[in-house]
Amino acid sequence: MNKKAYYGAFGGQFVAESLMNTLEELDVAFEEAIHDPKFMEQYHYYLSQYVGRETPLYYAERLSEKYGTKIYLKREDLNHTGAHKINNVIGQILLAKRMGKTKVIAETGAGQHGVATATGAALFNMECTVYMGKEDIERQKLNVMRMEMLGAKVVSVESGSNTLKDATNEAIRTWAKTAEDTFYVIGSAVGPYPYPKMVKEFQSVISREAKRQHMEVEGRNPDVVMACVGGGSNSIGMFADFIDEKDVELIGVEAAGLGIETGKHASAMALGEPGVLHGMKSYLLQDTDGNIQLAHSISAGLDYPGVGPEHAYLRDSGRAKYVAITDVEAMDALMELCKLEGIIPAIESAHAVAYAFKKAKKMNRNQSMIVCLSGRGDKDVNTISDYLAGKGYLN
Ligand SMILES: *Cc1c(COP(=O)(O)O)cnc(C)c1O
Repeated sequence: MNKKAYYGAFGGQFVAESLMNTLEELDVAFEEAIHDPKFMEQYHYYLSQYVGRETPLYYAERLSEKYGTKIYLKREDLNHTGAHKINNVIGQILLAKRMGKTKVIAETGAGQHGVATATGAALFNMECTVYMGKEDIERQKLNVMRMEMLGAKVVSVESGSNTLKDATNEAIRTWAKTAEDTFYVIGSAVGPYPYPKMVKEFQSVISREAKRQHMEVEGRNPDVVMACVGGGSNSIGMFADFIDEKDVELIGVEAAGLGIETGKHASAMALGEPGVLHGMKSYLLQDTDGNIQLAHSISAGLDYPGVGPEHAYLRDSGRAKYVAITDVEAMDALMELCKLEGIIPAIESAHAVAYAFKKAKKMNRNQSMIVCLSGRGDKDVNTISDYLAGKGYLN
């Protein structure tokens, strides 16, 4: 067993024998790259000049006033393409180029990672194919259009539930056959090692900036750091530089969908069991026979039946705490952020904001928290309007 591939009992490389060498090559190339100052300089050049970093750590004045503690928002919604995913995509595609690959493939559910990958592929002149479940293609027409405009080919996956889980299986299968010239860009802190490590490295820019920014205004670390958890990339990036700061409380917020008790949720930490999916061992939503269960959340980006292996480890070791927020709670928080701060967040991010409000009530005015605002809500306007219409808010 390759020990470095594990986070406690989680992680590993559960892939076909034919991919083991490819993963080893990838790990070696990645370690060389991040220790090469030229590579890192190039990475940071694109983050600043193309993505628009650094992102502000915004003091949400009206929310802080209302909830009685200092609330800071790490504005990943202001990145090019509207979310944190581009941080990781730029890193992985630069690595792909360095390794001499000419093609990239990716899987996508809501389309956000597909759009980010298609963007990076256009920027760095790589051929790009995105695998997407047939059902998701119908649900996410706008993002499919975006990917095609950016020059990517979108392949419809028709198997299983016709969604993200199946698209991911298809991407892994294709990669096993084409790894010679093709790089698989994974969009969250999941998959076989070294992906969880790579994604964390490329997303850790979030906490590196936020820690310094908070220090500049407050002269100390925040008391609480919080982020939503789908596969776990914006959260691991938001946690990274605080993990060794034992006085900082780390909270990951999963989607409770219609309520954990209804069975229609995406809370792999609350109700999952250890199992193997997409090349990794982690907490997964499964039925009693070990079949993967479909996740449910109003936010497509949190609708994943598992969670990255380092989060599973952080949970079991007690370093981080994981909680769940329902669709209704998230939508209420979303509307409040719109009205009080003039920011329309992604529904994913609104889950973190909703828990921030609950947590703030247990804190005092001198304490502070940082909430990762992982993305902007433009992509969600249709979902939001359907939801509000159903709730009668609009009339
Ligand atoms: C994809 C996405 C998420 C969930 O993914 P993580 O890997 O858990 O970060 C959260 N927020 C936004 C805006 C997303 O696009």
